[in-house]
Amino acid sequence: MFNSKLIVYKNKTGKYNIMYNAIICRYHEIAIKGNNRNMFEKQMVSNLRFLLRDIDNLKIAKIRGRIWVQHRESVEFTEQELEIIKAQLPKAFGLETFSPVIMCRPDIDELKQVVINSCKTIFDRAFAENKIVTFRVRARRSDKQFSLNSKGIEIALAETPGAYYQEDQLRVNLKSADVTIGCEVRNEFAFIFYETLKGPGGLPVGSNSPVLALLSGGIDSPVACCMAMKRGSRVDYLTFHSAPYTPQETIDKVKRVTDIINEFQKNGVLHICNLAPIQKEIRDKCHPEIRTVLYRRMMFRIAEAVARKNHRYALLTGEALGQVASQTVINMSTINAATDMLVLRPLVGMDKNEAITLARKLGTFDTCAEQVPDSCTVFAPPSPATRASLEHALAEEEKLGDYQLILEQIIADIVEYYSQD
Ligand code: ATP
Ligand code: MG
Repeated sequence: MFNSKLIVYKNKTGKYNIMYNAIICRYHEIAIKGNNRNMFEKQMVSNLRFLLRDIDNLKIAKIRGRIWVQHRESVEFTEQELEIIKAQLPKAFGLETFSPVIMCRPDIDELKQVVINSCKTIFDRAFAENKIVTFRVRARRSDKQFSLNSKGIEIALAETPGAYYQEDQLRVNLKSADVTIGCEVRNEFAFIFYETLKGPGGLPVGSNSPVLALLSGGIDSPVACCMAMKRGSRVDYLTFHSAPYTPQETIDKVKRVTDIINEFQKNGVLHICNLAPIQKEIRDKCHPEIRTVLYRRMMFRIAEAVARKNHRYALLTGEALGQVASQTVINMSTINAATDMLVLRPLVGMDKNEAITLARKLGTFDTCAEQVPDSCTVFAPPSPATRASLEHALAEEEKLGDYQLILEQIIADIVEYYSQD
């Protein structure tokens, strides 16, 4: 995997003078999955390939409990490629941490040379903020035959910054340091790194069964989608509008939200459904107080049909207990009774502020905060019931007669939207 003659200690771009030639990706939870481990790792490799699709000629491979990203020709990453990597890998669910590394032969002189060639950039950055810079070396060796033990490697490498700075400018601090020089020595290769960046944790998307999310243009449902992805489920989406009573902007906004959350997974399909035909029936024939609960029961029925047809194994919503009238325990229970499918509600115990914080982190907040009319609100009654019993809902639905035909037509008219890659 390592081609020693390709280590060139000079900057090709003229800008970036650390020759990072690989990225080490560390995972935690997937490492402990016993027999499934292979499947989890394969999924992780495939997901990384998708996330790093803008970089040509990548080689992504798993080697002994880590995933390595390199160029096929073993050349170093450009500054622009490192920027892409740093922006994209925090979206790779399943990833604990990652580090750009400089690979070399497992040889102490070569390791020293690598540190001499790379450390000045890192130390100069630290000296821009401090008069005295603290540093430490953290070494590990899995090759027990290596000439030095971990302590010995640390001592040998700790001398190298001395080539550039006065003794009184530098201090070793093992507990907390401005600069940490990381080193790992393995049988076939060794590497040096200076930063350990955080991945999002969780499990790789695709390692659990896929689900269908009810996606509104609101703040909560995209957060719910990402939480399910973080636990390994691929997510497709179903959104309801009420054209011509809601404008085209309602649909366009959800498409934009879909594009944002599809950045975390490959090819989540958005099913776009016009709920207006059944909403009008409910509006005309049923008690105003219970309308919202009835709209939602219809949403769940449609969602179940779409999910079963597309082999999606659960529904997913952004509901949080008590947040709005339709989310009281009694109303949620009445709504839930419309489907036999498992309904996942990862936000159930969250405050709005917590959901907002997550939405900002995921990048959906600004789009979701735009005010456009929602399918439910255009047909909303002035004072919705907060305790709609199932008996009451069923009695009101009796008034609709055979609504199944209307639902079938609504489902037949669903259109699909795919994000561009
Ligand atoms: P959100 O911010 O996700 O819209 P909310 O707090 O506004 O949530 P509601 O509007 O009551 O709450 O919706 C609760 C959940 O019902 C949503 O999270 C979503 O899963 C689903 N939902 C609501 N409206 C729609 C819609 N127009 N299309 C698809 N799903 C919807
Ligand atoms: Mg909403």
